[in-house]
Amino acid sequence: MKNQEDKFKKVISHAKEYGYVFQSSEIYDGLSAVYDYAQNGVELKNNIREYWWKAMVQMNENIVGLDSAIFMHPTTWKASGHVDAFNDPLIDNKDSKKRYRADVLIEDYAEKLNLKAKKEIAKAVKRFGDAFNENEFITTNPRVLKYLSKRDEVLKRMGESLENEDLVEVKNLIEELEIACPVSGSKNWTDVKQFNLMFGTKLGASADSAMDLYLRPETAQGIFVNFANVQKTGRMKIPFGIAQTGKAFRNEIVARQFIFRMREFEQMEMQFFVRPGEELKWYEHWKEKRLNWHLSLGLGKENYRFHDHDKLAHYANAAADIEFDFPFGFKELEGIHSRTDFDLKAHEEHSGKKLQFFDHEMNKSYVPYVIETSIGLDRMFLSVFSTALQNEVLEDGSERIVLKLPAVLAPTKAAVLPLVKKDGLPEIARTIINDLKFDFNVSYDEKDAIGRRYRRQDAVGTPFCITVDHETKNDDTVTIRHRDTMQQERVKISDLKSIILKEVSLSNWLHKI
Ligand code: ATP
Repeated sequence: MKNQEDKFKKVISHAKEYGYVFQSSEIYDGLSAVYDYAQNGVELKNNIREYWWKAMVQMNENIVGLDSAIFMHPTTWKASGHVDAFNDPLIDNKDSKKRYRADVLIEDYAEKLNLKAKKEIAKAVKRFGDAFNENEFITTNPRVLKYLSKRDEVLKRMGESLENEDLVEVKNLIEELEIACPVSGSKNWTDVKQFNLMFGTKLGASADSAMDLYLRPETAQGIFVNFANVQKTGRMKIPFGIAQTGKAFRNEIVARQFIFRMREFEQMEMQFFVRPGEELKWYEHWKEKRLNWHLSLGLGKENYRFHDHDKLAHYANAAADIEFDFPFGFKELEGIHSRTDFDLKAHEEHSGKKLQFFDHEMNKSYVPYVIETSIGLDRMFLSVFSTALQNEVLEDGSERIVLKLPAVLAPTKAAVLPLVKKDGLPEIARTIINDLKFDFNVSYDEKDAIGRRYRRQDAVGTPFCITVDHETKNDDTVTIRHRDTMQQERVKISDLKSIILKEVSLSNWLHKI
């Protein structure tokens, strides 16, 4: 746990020190759970977005893009259920004045029971060695049984109370379990209240004609309300998808995990419209496709797992998360949801407009079913960045900090370094940059000894360093150093572009999906 916290702190400070992520309005002491992407962060973020966009829109003939506005007609959010149901149950501790999500307090309690059971299992594995039968142990050991059944009972009671909107019962549960405030240790709680996560604002100049609006809490609804427009003008046939990336806003109650949970964040969503009855087939298809997209980046298969939802949202008939092993454990990175015809039907009812598709093969009209893939761009950024950040001990015992970003996503692909600041070497370096910059981001660095410059580029994640030395003047060759292996080779200046492109070109990476 301590290790995890340390790692996470390192991730946050590295992100700041190397120009990836800054706290918003830092000079005014920041704004809680709002962040800015700095000179390198914006490049990494753009590259992730582009990799997602191309994998969706360019690689699939039947998926098209959209960029709908953040402001939408307020009825949209009535129809989607967000006005009535986009709530989190909150509770305040009267002593520490800290605010919590009541469901998270209870889930954390349940997780502790889970960990206790795991500890018992780990002890037994040690004791019984090869003869250990985990299944038998879990189903017969009285302690494990006690912990797990208590965990299930707690989660079930919470689930039912939330479902019935019985907030008194949620508070009773917290009191019965004697859950204490993690900050103060106090059990002095307020009542549980529902808290709507949407940010409100107003459109219009005069007070009486102003219209109440919301900042969108998800990008998906912009796709649903444009379904008929895109289908008709794009002459799209079922099955087809609409992809969109853009900002979303949620007034999160607890937002303490850096860019994992922000109040302003960016989503990359794709809604795939299918024939009713075929949705579960497509749901499986997209689960597999999306996992492959993640795996193509090479961050390690062991870092991903599916979590199938037992409790489904009111609009879904199947849902799973792709969870990633963040520095604070496995957490949701992307959601894949079978949303039925809930959204389109709701918009039909509220708008009075038909949102249907005439299927020539079936010779009938229907409201399509929807499979949604929804990923947070900032969470994706964190997954890539935190896994890439490594502390390596080298053969000679020294350490280096290296950001092993997938080359396709790295902000700068190559740094060109004249060995010394004289003898015409800087000029040659500039000529190389002026040639390469048409294809990718290249930087120049002439300060400090070459070893320190290499370390600086390692820490910022640049996959290649190109060193110009005196030999270059004689034979037009340079040294190219690979970030991950630290291997160096002597190559012709004229070959640089193709050597680098082989590693960084988006098309080569798309082939891996
Ligand atoms: P969580 O349970 O973590 O609050 P969610 O289930 O509410 O997430 P969805 O509504 O399914 O999330 O949103 C889709 C994706 O958007 C999530 O998988 C996540 O990557 C991203 N996302 C949601 N909320 C936030 C946030 N506050 N900050 C950053 N990314 C977010």
